[in-house]
Amino acid sequence: MGGEVILKTVDIWKWFGKVLALREINLEVYRGELLVLLGPSGSGKSTLLRIIGGLEFPSRGRVYMDGEDITFYPPYKRDTSMVFQSLALFPHMTVYDNVAYGLKIRKVPKDEIDRRVDEILELVKIRELRDRKVTQLSGGQRQRVAIARSLILNPKVLLLDEPLGALDLKLRKELHVELKRLHKEVGNTWIFVTHDQEEALTLADRIGIMNSGRIEQIGDKWDVYERPSKMFVADFIGETNIIQGSIKKAYKDYIVIDWRGIELYVPFIEGCEGSKEIYLSIRPENISISKTRPRVTGKLNLFNGEIIDEIFKGSYVTYYIKLPNKEVLRVTVLTKDADFDVGDKVFVYWKPRMGVSIIE
Ligand code: ADP
Ligand code: MG
Repeated sequence: MGGEVILKTVDIWKWFGKVLALREINLEVYRGELLVLLGPSGSGKSTLLRIIGGLEFPSRGRVYMDGEDITFYPPYKRDTSMVFQSLALFPHMTVYDNVAYGLKIRKVPKDEIDRRVDEILELVKIRELRDRKVTQLSGGQRQRVAIARSLILNPKVLLLDEPLGALDLKLRKELHVELKRLHKEVGNTWIFVTHDQEEALTLADRIGIMNSGRIEQIGDKWDVYERPSKMFVADFIGETNIIQGSIKKAYKDYIVIDWRGIELYVPFIEGCEGSKEIYLSIRPENISISKTRPRVTGKLNLFNGEIIDEIFKGSYVTYYIKLPNKEVLRVTVLTKDADFDVGDKVFVYWKPRMGVSIIE
């Protein structure tokens, strides 16, 4: 992705009394993208979104929209709109009145309101609910109303703060598909906040990972998943094995490390020359196991292991495998190939480039 920057924050810091909620946030959002900010509870996601939406002001730093400094504009003066988890719908009003509300305030003519409400209800597929009261809707339907109500204002940037948080998993998964379609059709810029990594991976073009008020890493979701640059990111998104080792020797393409008595090849990483400690993140799906010795050419990490536990997850199985150095690795195998049992002796192997080296 890439392209034109529509929204930018420059060195945003936010204190609530002594609590530092955001530090050094330099964020660039591209026109038309769906950016997901992912992080655990308390990492500063809502605060950042509220600063972008004008519901909160930063202690330090600036917010720019299309080059204009909007840092201290009130919400109604900036071209953003916010969708919350705790829906701020008017319960006694109909779907139509809820969705039309923002346009009425803006004194848009009645026939144009009618037309736009119908259009947007069509888009979020709740046209038949037009005259129902909000109290007569299911959770998922209400959430569609909330989204319609924000979308109808046609904001340059739509801000969504865990909008599906209150819904059950199955409904959330349905809405993910819907939201992706909606984003494509509407074509404006969305910033979507969540603590759910699966939701983030499903929805995002790009993902920013937040931790303790910082954006730890931001980029294309595949890059963030495949090349985490921090331990926190590797661990928070997807599942992974984290191996801590000490550097024995660095070559041009790879490094030899010692992992509690086992030698491993890991990818070369800048900065390894001055460092003794190194981390390797190796995802369970990137490790192979077999009952017979594998025939693989080139550099290979290869060990004997014993399966000590298995967890059936439906489409795949996670095996816990003990290595000669007493460390345990998690390895996932597609269920159709998962003909191993607890107690089996196996070969455990992966090519060095399947792992990611991290120095902190
Ligand atoms: P998230 O949305 O990622 O869960 P928040 O942005 O809500 O995180 O909160 C970030 C930090 O700022 C937390 O430590 C939270 O307790 C604190 N915080 C947020 N809003 C306020 C507030 N109005 N007053 C005091 N502390 C706050
Ligand atoms: Mg929040």
